[in-house]
Amino acid sequence: MLEKVALVTGAARGIGFATARLFLDAGWLVAVLDRDTEALNSAVQDLGQGAGGFDYDVSDPSAVDAAIKDIMARFGRIDALVNNAGVADFGPIEETDFARWRRVMETNLDGVFLMSQAATPALKQTQGAIVNIASISGLRASTLRVAYGTSKAAVIQLTKQQAAELGEHGIRANCVCPGPVRTKLAMAVHTQDIIDAYHDAIPLNRYGSEQEIAEVIVFLCSDKSSYVTGQVIASDGGFESTGVGLPALRG
Ligand code: NAD
Repeated sequence: MLEKVALVTGAARGIGFATARLFLDAGWLVAVLDRDTEALNSAVQDLGQGAGGFDYDVSDPSAVDAAIKDIMARFGRIDALVNNAGVADFGPIEETDFARWRRVMETNLDGVFLMSQAATPALKQTQGAIVNIASISGLRASTLRVAYGTSKAAVIQLTKQQAAELGEHGIRANCVCPGPVRTKLAMAVHTQDIIDAYHDAIPLNRYGSEQEIAEVIVFLCSDKSSYVTGQVIASDGGFESTGVGLPALRG
């Protein structure tokens, strides 16, 4: 049987890296794409056989086309695209100038659009799957997330557009919304106040792990979810499903 190929963006560390590892454990080959050259090289070395590194920026249209060509030349097929590359920049509306807004949008939203569009011909050949990584910040609004939260809400809608249009080609598109995970991205913006607030608002009363997010992503890329498309699944310890009152109950 032909080995399946997953392309995971932003896979040099964090959730993307855990996802790449899980794909390898499941017997897939993995195209590990990232723009952080040093982290990429060490990730590919850590992942070992079956992983190939691709040093590209998902926000750059010409780089995206070159990346897909390069990956097709190396692996010959793409069965799953995981649009995981993301940046976080938290700030008040009045301090989010256009350059800051664009920096978030160009990776978190433009990158998902561009990578999916460029990979579509390859995904048509395999009747493949797209999994876009949004966030609980795209499901519920909060302070400081005008750019980040809006970019992630747009990714949720983009996923539904993709599911609607690409379904006739057998391509499934789903979205995973992670809750807080202690990655480099999160720890750069999560102050102690934010960490405490998350504990107060999460029924499971803890952060998630990279592995707990990766399990949902790999499931949505696998044949086990062959009739699931256009869905948004939060892996968030229950954050999205609840409102106020948890700390009082715990007390
Ligand atoms: P991370 O910072 O640990 O990893 C992100 C990776 O993406 C990095 O290796 C980075 O170099 C790469 N990257 C960023 N922009 C890129 C670009 N334009 N082109 C190519 N590579 C790029 O972050 P993470 O926490 O693992 O986040 C992964 C995804 O999960 C992101 O989309 C993030 O928004 C989302 N997410 C994370 C959390 C969390 O708490 N960690 C919560 C919700 C959603």
